[in-house]
Amino acid sequence: MKMNNSTIAAISTAQGEGGIGVIRISGEESITIADKVFRAASGKKLSDMKGYTAAFGHIVRGNETVDEAIATVFRAPNSYTGENVVELSCHGGLFITREVLRNVLDAGATPALAGEFTKRAFLNGKLDLTEAEAVIDIISAKSRIAARSALSAKEGALWKRIEKIKNELVSTAAHFSAWADYPEEDIEEVTDENLKQKFENWLSDLEKLLSTYDKGQTVKEGIDTVIAGKPNTGKSTLMNLLSGHDRSIVTDIPGTTRDVIEETVLVGDVILRLSDTAGIRETGDTVEKIGVDIAKNRLKTCGLVLAVFDGSRALDDDDIKLLENIDDVPSVGIINKTDLGVEIDRDYIKDKLKNVVEISAKSGEGYDKLSEIISKIAGTEDFNPSEGILANERQRNAVVNAKNALIEAKNALEIGMTFDAVEVALEEAIECILELTGERVSEVVVDNVFHNFCVGK
Ligand code: GDP
Repeated sequence: MKMNNSTIAAISTAQGEGGIGVIRISGEESITIADKVFRAASGKKLSDMKGYTAAFGHIVRGNETVDEAIATVFRAPNSYTGENVVELSCHGGLFITREVLRNVLDAGATPALAGEFTKRAFLNGKLDLTEAEAVIDIISAKSRIAARSALSAKEGALWKRIEKIKNELVSTAAHFSAWADYPEEDIEEVTDENLKQKFENWLSDLEKLLSTYDKGQTVKEGIDTVIAGKPNTGKSTLMNLLSGHDRSIVTDIPGTTRDVIEETVLVGDVILRLSDTAGIRETGDTVEKIGVDIAKNRLKTCGLVLAVFDGSRALDDDDIKLLENIDDVPSVGIINKTDLGVEIDRDYIKDKLKNVVEISAKSGEGYDKLSEIISKIAGTEDFNPSEGILANERQRNAVVNAKNALIEAKNALEIGMTFDAVEVALEEAIECILELTGERVSEVVVDNVFHNFCVGK
């Protein structure tokens, strides 16, 4: 894969006003370039400093002082990218950070592309591809558990899990070819029986790995959740209650349809992508009927239904219609307005829905119970962030392909094909695993991975 040798620079902190802004420079010339724009108060040159040391001083442009700064020197290969790196920490203003970057670029660095620092770390063998992908997941994590899981992946949780399978596949393939190619040597015979057992074990390991994908997606992306219920049951109030918790890490999704409100909220450890729907009721009005049909369809296709009932009133036809339209999708029946006393036939609802909780959306009473039920449904309760999970479609595809190749190898063995045919399929499985870790991967795939990064990372 092509390695760009230029020295690159970018602002690595978020663009905006902050206490500190960091301009990162990486490449062979980074220390020489930084020496042109930074004057240490001690008078010492950065090129005379050891790795992992820092100096206080000023960013200068000719005779002019641009800002105070601290320069940290990292020497190859002991840096994020594996190259010489200097990080200039200056004041975190939009203007100042850009001015320092401009200075660095004028001194000979080239602007870094999106994800280029991490891409260099990957190309220099500091990270495998799954660990590099985890960097972006750490940055974009919206919940504690998503961040923990991404951090484990960055620290090699998935890599270790794959490495184990990879080593076994490689050593079996090697044994195989040694045995087939050097029959005169005293190499342990490969028998159908011990091979079959190995295939069973690998397939079961890969199956287990694949089963982590869905839960991982739930943890990372959240659950597509519909709040359903007739008017006035308290859906908007419930939405406010849910978004009121940890509002600061909640993002609004603007620009949705006329009568659908969408919002992403965090309930306990679970991210819910909430949307409201039209009520489910009988109607002669054509336009309203379209709305009702869309709502019915959403109830079947979403990941979670929160069905809201006004607990202070008797159950009516609209409530019953809603209950009849909730199929196999995970759901929680929410009997709301408990502060007004419960009039509704709660047994009827409990008979129809597995999970029912009584709350007052207005006062917040019952929220904890609701949160507990939601984490149970989402599976975050027993989710182990450090187990190593498949975090994206690229990783999942590679494992699916490896699994298919192993199934082919196993079939070849079972129908009595030559060991050659088995070996070819085994090699194919190894290729897929190497693609997963990035040890043998095309430039297009690598570019695609880093394309999703921001500049400065
Ligand atoms: P929506 O039409 O389903 O979105 O219902 P709203 O959230 O607009 O609520 C309808 C009315 O019920 C409003 O006057 C709310 O203040 C009231 N309400 C909602 N939740 C509760 C609750 O838990 N207790 C009480 N007493 N009133 C509630």
